[in-house]
Amino acid sequence: MQRGVHVASTLHESCGTAVQVKLGARSADIHPVRFDLEHPTSRQLRDGVTCGLIAESMMVPILLTVTFVDHAQVRWGYMAAAVACIVVSILYQGAFTLITRGQAGVESQANSWFIIVCLAMAGLACIELSTATPAALYTPAMLVGVIFVAIVGDRRMQFVIDVFALALIAVIGWVQGLRGAEFAVSMVVYASTVAVLSYICARTVGSMTGQINATQALDSLDECFDDVGLDAARPTSDTFAEIFSRGLPYVACIMPAERVAVFTRTGALERFTLLASWPDITADCGDMARLPAVATALAHDDVEIDSHYCVLPVGYASDGELVMVIERSQSDSRADLRSAESADLLASAFLRVTSRANFINGLHTESRTDPLTGLANRRSLMERIDMEMSHAIRSDSPLTLAMIDLDHFKEYNDRYGHVAGDTVLRSVAAMMISNTRDQDMVARYGGEEFCLVLPDTDLIGGHHLLDHLRSGGRDATTDLGVTLSAGLTSWDGIEDPLSFIERADRALYRAKSSGRDRVVSIAAYSE
Ligand code: GH3
Ligand code: MG
Ligand code: MG
Repeated sequence: MQRGVHVASTLHESCGTAVQVKLGARSADIHPVRFDLEHPTSRQLRDGVTCGLIAESMMVPILLTVTFVDHAQVRWGYMAAAVACIVVSILYQGAFTLITRGQAGVESQANSWFIIVCLAMAGLACIELSTATPAALYTPAMLVGVIFVAIVGDRRMQFVIDVFALALIAVIGWVQGLRGAEFAVSMVVYASTVAVLSYICARTVGSMTGQINATQALDSLDECFDDVGLDAARPTSDTFAEIFSRGLPYVACIMPAERVAVFTRTGALERFTLLASWPDITADCGDMARLPAVATALAHDDVEIDSHYCVLPVGYASDGELVMVIERSQSDSRADLRSAESADLLASAFLRVTSRANFINGLHTESRTDPLTGLANRRSLMERIDMEMSHAIRSDSPLTLAMIDLDHFKEYNDRYGHVAGDTVLRSVAAMMISNTRDQDMVARYGGEEFCLVLPDTDLIGGHHLLDHLRSGGRDATTDLGVTLSAGLTSWDGIEDPLSFIERADRALYRAKSSGRDRVVSIAAYSE
């Protein structure tokens, strides 16, 4: 019984990290992190060894007892323990499923494999107990450790377990009176049998659970992007950071990884900015951006794998190319084929989501931008006026609006053609943008009419700015023979956007009728 309980509690320890993170996910919205079974990080490797050694050492007192007190009753006790082990395993599986219900994925699968192995091991124990010497008990005991290593650790740790096993068997054999050649032969036969058995077992369990984990992690990776809410709202620069912080924990389940980092490569200076990293979000990953493999991957726009790193180009953000760098857990040439497949799958999963974000972003921008000048369009202008009115109320600050119209633009078009006219519209737009603040909005209201929203600006300040633009506009367009007229007004604090625009339009009309190439202001309560 004790053995079964211990097996279960040790497994609980080994899965503890995953379970806790997963349960935490409900409240903190963190996604589960699962060990890669074949290629864990060094920390996970340590956990694997600890679990294996705990399983081993728990067998020591039992084996020693059986060695010294070789009695039929003890054997029957073992039979009972084996049955109890089966019962506890089943109960444990039930509890595990209950705890992680609705979220159990990778963990419960890995646990199922463990249960199957536990059952097989218990069966094996029953057979051996009824036939063999107490020392033969060590085979199933050995397998427990090996299975732990397969599930939470690394196959290399099998070596540690094997050495431990051999030492224990040697003690037992010696106590039971084995000496000389007989002792040596039994050690060699026993050690090699256990080594081969445990190797096959660990490898099989490791690769099966590894594949299951990878497949399920890939599905979860796609699903986790649903929460980013790409369809609901406009993607911002934070959207990309969120995509990667949500997706990176899954990378290590699909591909052997010690560290994963995502960078944005910006501009001709090729500056790399860290966007997200795993497992430590505050880790210094600057060294990963400077790897030659990163330059090669970006130059060829293709996955680049070497023995230590795997580099995946994963699309574009508004400020540059996105590149993911995975520091691999170990250089295992046998894993190369799998790495290449996993890298391709990972790259396309992330590419799909970044392209979707960019597509939605493009649609959003397109629907709010004037294609000729790149300025905000009327839809965007109306939204902004609404927003600035709320801001003006909240901060008790003035809000000023200007309507601008190019003078005799029809003549200009008639004389130089519409293509030249378009060029003038673009340069007037650029001139206004470069002469206003970031918080101001320059919009194209219609044909050759523009609108300026000036938050935290009173009528006098607005008048100065518009006069400046008018002269700037003249400088930029004198050669083209175009001047501009502007009408200006400030918000009275209660009227709706249309009345606000109408008054600015009346001011513009006055500027036109009083000779053009001028700015006319109308104060909010002057009419
Ligand atoms: P004013 O405003 O000084 O009274 O004279 P105007 O000649 O500018 O008069 P109006 O505002 O009525 O004419 C607008 C002209 O702007 C008509 C059209 O030829 C031109 N226009 C409107 N949209 C575009 C455009 O997208 N490209 C070009 N090239 N011209 C445009
Ligand atoms: Mg005009
Ligand atoms: Mg006009």
